[in-house]
Amino acid sequence: MATHQSEIQAHTGLIEFNGQIIEKMVSEHEVQAMVQRLADEIYRDYAGKKPLLVGILKGANLFVGDLARELGRGNPEIGRLPMPVEIDFLQVSSYAGDTSTGHVEKKMDISTDIKGRDVLLVEDIVDTGKTLTWIKKQLQERQPASLNVCVLVDKPERREVYFKPEYTGKSIPNKFVVGYGLDFNQEFRNLPFIGIVVGQA
Ligand code: 5GP
Repeated sequence: MATHQSEIQAHTGLIEFNGQIIEKMVSEHEVQAMVQRLADEIYRDYAGKKPLLVGILKGANLFVGDLARELGRGNPEIGRLPMPVEIDFLQVSSYAGDTSTGHVEKKMDISTDIKGRDVLLVEDIVDTGKTLTWIKKQLQERQPASLNVCVLVDKPERREVYFKPEYTGKSIPNKFVVGYGLDFNQEFRNLPFIGIVVGQA
């Protein structure tokens, strides 16, 4: 018997998840292709180095995992060898009640000494740019050899401070998105694609 969910998926591309209807914006296939392309770029730029990937929790959890795995796998089609990386995480809470100042509260720091290291910050999304600007400033003070940023999706229309990631999966329109690590009230993070909540199921 066809379920309500599979009928919705087959006919409209809408997905029922957790009692909500989600409209796909970036499919799982496209997400994985973006991760692979980003790994190709990172491999090219970090040849002979062992970068430290710093995932920003909680949202970048899936992305940093897939990116690290992709780098570790290599890509025989373009002669990309498996690349060693180290992984660390930091957690921040954005804005701490004040959206105007861009104040970010550090909840958990990395445990790696980054002095002289090639650090690549890995984040799910850049929106106003305030969070990554703040994090970069904090880490720069620890004198890494290099400090770059890789984001999966970018909403350039929303920028309030100048910020340009070195690596971007895709620019998306100014919509609140969920999935592939991105949450709404801590939910939807484990969707394998990125989408928009369009209503109740
Ligand atoms: P910023 O505005 O500082 O660039 O981004 C701050 C944080 O807001 C991001 O790290 C992310 O956690 C959250 N954020 C921004 N846009 C979205 C969105 O469309 N969906 C979700 N789930 N979170 C977002």
